[in-house]
Amino acid sequence: MAVLGNPKETIAILNKYGFMFQKKFGQNFLIDSHVLEKIIRAAEITKEDCVLEIGPGIGTMTQYLCESAGKVIAVEVDKNLIPILTEDTLAGYDNVRVIHADVLKLDLKQLIQEENGGRPVKVVANLPYYITTPIIMGLFEAGVPLSSVTVMVQKEVADRMQAGPGSKDYGALSLAVQYYAAPYLAANVPPNCFMPRPNVGSAVIRLTLHEKPPVEVADERLLFQIIRASFAQRRKTLVNGLTNSPELNYSKEEITGFLSACGLPATVRGETLTLSEFARLADVMKAGA
Ligand code: SAM
Repeated sequence: MAVLGNPKETIAILNKYGFMFQKKFGQNFLIDSHVLEKIIRAAEITKEDCVLEIGPGIGTMTQYLCESAGKVIAVEVDKNLIPILTEDTLAGYDNVRVIHADVLKLDLKQLIQEENGGRPVKVVANLPYYITTPIIMGLFEAGVPLSSVTVMVQKEVADRMQAGPGSKDYGALSLAVQYYAAPYLAANVPPNCFMPRPNVGSAVIRLTLHEKPPVEVADERLLFQIIRASFAQRRKTLVNGLTNSPELNYSKEEITGFLSACGLPATVRGETLTLSEFARLADVMKAGA
């Protein structure tokens, strides 16, 4: 069994199976053992843990996960990678289950019920960058039992996830992520740690799930509609953003009244509001609706 995490063994496996990278699946395989060790450390994996890995590729990080976790569930969409994983790179491990599926179409709640008795799992992934946000938000919003999500993402996305009010990176993704989890930037990763090299910088971010959200709101759906509307037209005032939203149905006067009830001026911009201020606004709008 090849021990991966370096260019030589990675190339040998790719050649052995005649594997061709597929751009549509966002395939950039890790070839740096230091980065792999950092990810495992950041995720704080122990033998007590069941880990869900999204997109194992040729199984590089999966090998590290199998060494440190009790159990690993690896979900890979590319059928050409399945024989590499099951017959070769993961053949020496009896604590891994490889599933050939699109993670966005899987019932993860049911899978975790079957594999881990419904107890929270840790997600670890070097995510395909084109579907980072739907994967992470899908995990949170579906109420999949999770204790943490440690992921390699585009550096710019990691910055947005941990940004606060007033920063240029602050937006709907920052608020959505911080509603569910506490972000921690574990490492910056340059393009030369991957094969092929991506044309953007990457970062490992750990999202530790809150036991309960840091703010309480009467209507969570309304909160996120307001957040989306506030950042859809970033340069506009909050009054205009909320009035123009196709998801909300309030007049300019009503919105101005709601802001005033929250002690906010009519000229305020969404990018200056904290999560608590958005939650207060959602409750005022709910009560006034
Ligand atoms: N974990 C490997 C590594 O670090 O070397 C591969 C990471 S690569 C950036 C992303 C992986 O996710 C690829 O193997 C790709 O085929 C897989 N993938 C892409 N879309 C997926 C999806 N919707 N469901 C499951 N896997 C997916």
